[in-house]
Formats: sequence, C-alpha cells, structure tokens
Amino acid sequence: MKRDYYEVLGVSKTASEDEIKKAYRQIAIKYHPDRNPGDKKAEELFKEAAEAYNVLHDPQKRQQYDQFGFAGPAGGGFEGFGASMDLDDIFQMFGDVFGGHGFGGFGGFGGGRAGRQQHRGTDLRLKVKLSLLEISQGVTKKFKVRKDITCTHCHGTGAEDGSGRDTCPTCHGSGVITHTTQSIFGMMQTQGVCPTCKGEGQVIKNKCHQCNGTGVTKGEEVVEINIPAGVAEGMVVNVPGKGNAGIHGGVPGDIQVFIEEEENDKFVRDGNDLIYNVLLDFPTAALGGEVEIPTIEGKTLKVKIESGTQPGKTMRLRGKGLPAVQGYGSGVGDLVVNISVYVPKTLSREEKKALENLRDSDNFKGDRQTEESIFKRFKNYFA
Ligand SMILES: [Zn+2]
Ligand SMILES: [Zn+2]
Repeated sequence: MKRDYYEVLGVSKTASEDEIKKAYRQIAIKYHPDRNPGDKKAEELFKEAAEAYNVLHDPQKRQQYDQFGFAGPAGGGFEGFGASMDLDDIFQMFGDVFGGHGFGGFGGFGGGRAGRQQHRGTDLRLKVKLSLLEISQGVTKKFKVRKDITCTHCHGTGAEDGSGRDTCPTCHGSGVITHTTQSIFGMMQTQGVCPTCKGEGQVIKNKCHQCNGTGVTKGEEVVEINIPAGVAEGMVVNVPGKGNAGIHGGVPGDIQVFIEEEENDKFVRDGNDLIYNVLLDFPTAALGGEVEIPTIEGKTLKVKIESGTQPGKTMRLRGKGLPAVQGYGSGVGDLVVNISVYVPKTLSREEKKALENLRDSDNFKGDRQTEESIFKRFKNYFA
C-alpha cells in the first residue's frame, strides 16, 4: 500500500509550499544514502519522500492529487515515480531544494558544480620517422612548431596593462549557470559552464589588444624532443607542457609524438631483436671459417662458422639487438643471424670438374644423410 503523500512528509493537507519544502529537506537529509550506506529501508524512505515532494511542491500536481488521489487525472497517475527513477535522477531534480548547491554537506551529485575553471591548452600531434640507428641509440629531434603561445603583451592574463577583472555579470562569479527545464517529472535543473566567462567567474575589464583578451597568440617555437632508445612504430612519446598554451594562463597542453620506423636495407626488426640474413659461400659452410656480420651501429662482428654448418641454421648474438624502452619489455634484444648457403649459378670448367668428383663421394649425398638421421631419431624415440 502506498502511503499518503502528506503522511510521507508529515505535513497537514493545508501545509504551505514552504512547510512542504522544509519537511522534505529534513527527511531527505535524514535518509540520504550517503548517511545510510547500504540501508535499503532508508533508501526507500528517501525515494518515497522524493516522490511525495515531486507532487506536492507543484501546485498543479498537488491540486490533482488532492482531487483524484494516486490515480491522478484520467488514470495518468503519479504511480511508479519512485520505482522508475534512480537516486541520481532524484538528486538532479531536487538539488534546488538545497539552494542550487546540491544537498548541502553532501558532495558529488546533483550534476556536480562546474565551478571556476582553468583552461588547459590543447595537445599537438607530430609524426616522426626514425631510422633503426636512431632507435638503437635514442635521438633528440628539433621541431619548429606553430602553436598557441602565451601572449607576450599581457603575459597570458588577457588584460590590457593595469586593468583588472570584474565579477562575471552572467553567473555572478560562480562560473556556473543553471538551466531550468520542464520535464514529465516537473521542473528539472541542470548546471552548465557559464558561456560569458567560460567558467572563470570573472571577465576582463579591458582586453589586451594583442591577443584580444584570450592571453594566447599564434606563434612558432622550436621544440627539442628527446626520443628514448628502443621505441617502435606506433608508439607515442608524450612531451608534457609543450603543446598549445592555455587561454588566460591555463596550463599548456602536451605534444604527442607518433613514432614511425624507416625500413632498413640490412636488418629486419622483430621486437627488440634484429634479424640479419647471411649468405655463406659453400666451402666456408662445409669447411668452417669466419664470416663478417654488420651491426646496427655500422661496426662489423667476426663470427666463427663451424664446419658442416647447414643452411637454415640460426645464430644469436646476445645483446646486439635494440635496447628496450623503459617500461616496455626487458633487457636488450639480440642480433639473430639466419644462415643460407650460396650455390653458384655459373661454373668454370675446373669448378665443374671438381664438383663432379665430389658428387661421387658418399659425404655429399644429401638424400642418404637425411634418411639416416631420420632413422636415428626414429630409433631413439622408441629406445
Ligand atoms: Zn595579450
Ligand atoms: Zn560567468
């Protein structure tokens, strides 16, 4: 059974609007969910009071309620209000009961107050293409950036020399304006940033002639950006405070540097590893020897080749890859050397003869070698 709205608020049928408001305020504070966390009964009473107040504080609705009861006119009714609305809606609707400042003493609802605002400058985005060498060592890049800079005449205040600020005539210094709109539940109040002062609460008396009162002008600045070693395509390096200046001395935005990677003609990157493909001459693969492997820094490493090195063998030169960016992965990558063996495309008569002799040697019969090794593995598997 629904309780009578007058009973809910504990007022008489002849109570004045003020008495109704006062009664509701007391109940709302007493049963406020912030004061009664997790208390379902309190929440119900809180909602019940909100429903009653919604009807009784509106002269038209109150009159209909007095005349028709819960059914309301033409069966439209007042029913379901408490059930269909959540607490946030209630807070938003009845913030005005408490003087337009939300429920006094309780924070964080009623739409929140925009309050006086500081204007942060916007971020700038740059792209930079880096070579693997730059990535391996880290690099400092200079950019000439066109952006909003702090006005040199008024030093960002937006005011002409000597002139001060007045309280905003639109919002009277609060930085916030309240809109009242009619909804099916009655008058709804929402708060927004004051359009005159953009939430600052003050307006400039005499605008700076150079920046027209904004405190910022267009300008160019050379920005040095340190890009740490180990970055990769798609990463973003954020440079705080180097973006557009904020109006009226607000904090500047950031510069976001989007990393792109140049292709390298020697190395392929795989995470922090670098892959290098080397083509061994056949005698070195068979006899063993040494091969020279380039590094990303342009040096050469002499690497020992075992006799009988097979094509497809991989060697890992530890720590010769790319460093890890701080916070991404760990340690330094490797230089991975993939070995292929070069087969000559043309042969001299002597070479041909020598190879024909070798062909008859059992050691050179690849088929047999492979079969034997497969057979060996097969045997080991069942041993
Ligand atoms: Zn200025
Ligand atoms: Zn204002």
